[in-house]
Amino acid sequence: MARIVMKFGGTSMAGTERIRNVASRVKTAVEAGHEVAVVVSAMAGETDRLVGFCREAAPLATPAEYDVVVAAGEQVTAGLLAITLQAMGVRARSWLGWQLPIRTSDAHGTARIEGIDTTAVLASMAAGEVAVVPGFQGMTAGGRVTTLGRGGSDTSAVALAAALGAERCDIYTDVDGVYTTDPRIVPRAQKLSRITYEEMLELASVGAKVLQTRSVELAMKEKVRVQVLSSFSAAPGTLVVDESEDDVEQQLIAGVAYDKSEAKVTLVGVPDRPGVVAAIFGPLADANVNVDMIVQNIAKDEGKTDVTFTVPRAQLPLSLDVLDRAHADIGHAALLSDAAVAKISVVGVGMRSHAGVAATMFRALATRGINIQAITTSEIKVSVLIAEEYVELAVRVLHTAYGLDGAEPPAPDTISGTALETA
Ligand code: ADP
Ligand code: ASP
Ligand code: MG
Repeated sequence: MARIVMKFGGTSMAGTERIRNVASRVKTAVEAGHEVAVVVSAMAGETDRLVGFCREAAPLATPAEYDVVVAAGEQVTAGLLAITLQAMGVRARSWLGWQLPIRTSDAHGTARIEGIDTTAVLASMAAGEVAVVPGFQGMTAGGRVTTLGRGGSDTSAVALAAALGAERCDIYTDVDGVYTTDPRIVPRAQKLSRITYEEMLELASVGAKVLQTRSVELAMKEKVRVQVLSSFSAAPGTLVVDESEDDVEQQLIAGVAYDKSEAKVTLVGVPDRPGVVAAIFGPLADANVNVDMIVQNIAKDEGKTDVTFTVPRAQLPLSLDVLDRAHADIGHAALLSDAAVAKISVVGVGMRSHAGVAATMFRALATRGINIQAITTSEIKVSVLIAEEYVELAVRVLHTAYGLDGAEPPAPDTISGTALETA
């Protein structure tokens, strides 16, 4: 007997039939003698719908009220799963985030979990009930509802697993594991039986949305055993492991990821003098803009340089406004922007001991005439910024260049027996 947390994503919870499928998986775990807590997402598309209502109501909805609205999707699925389990003869009850509570920071829309009171859940599990907890939601110290940022149910599940001292946290989604790249883009992507926390963290942070970045961070810190698997098949999933546990022969590259959520900003003709970079990035930081890639050219003539960087696409209008207002301090000749860009990254711990990973990337992109607009690297990652129209081509080309292509996929529209759809 083990204590486990099972998390089901939006596609798995989309509609009565699928919730029944989830309930029968939970029932199987209960019948195997496990103590089970379940974390659920809203039905696929529901959070987008709720976000849409907030935008319609007011372009700049008050963050605390936005959270009241968008947290609602998970309330519905938590209740529905408890009802479905009960109808199958499985004892179950649901708790909302504020009822436990799941305590978070007060950063509405991107709140961080600070602690979970597990008293009620532990008592319920000990009494033989399945505890159903909505993902994504929490509560501030002041008693207001919060949400954890998009994809946040993964983090709810890992945090609950850590707080309960669960043996593992199984993340059920619409693909049967972590692949060498998004299998929706590259059908020949291969499933990894294991991936290190570090690689998963890096892949998630550069756009592989199969796990929310914070969930991996937390799993790594709290040593939670996370497994990614499909709710629609019995195929073995991917285990996220510590590097020391990773006995599989080390691949140079674990995966390729893409991110279309950034925009490029260029300041042309910036005076090349001490303090100018601070004059650019200081006001952006004050406005809570998350700057990612930064390129500054060597000053050419007349002591002028160009500075290019990326910001979240959603923050582009705000960033341009901030920079316009800082014009007197920065002294740039022109301000340019381009939202149609994408960041492509290759990630692998093998990079630490192998040279030439970046060169392979640049060569592969060059053979297809794909221009690189910016580059950043870390110890285990290389990222490049390219035009958005080349994303799919670039991901495929790099996947092949690093020898990651597997055999022909089973059928064009199926992965692990279920039709893929946009969540
Ligand atoms: P859920 O609703 O279950 O949380 P998500 O849509 O958030 O599911 O995450 C699963 C999706 O992540 C997959 O459908 C897939 O398109 C995408 N994805 C991106 N990169 C990868 C990868 N390397 N391996 C697996 N899936 C990936
Ligand atoms: N429902 C939320 C979202 O769509 C949280 C999640 O599914 O993880 O972002
Ligand atoms: Mg998700």
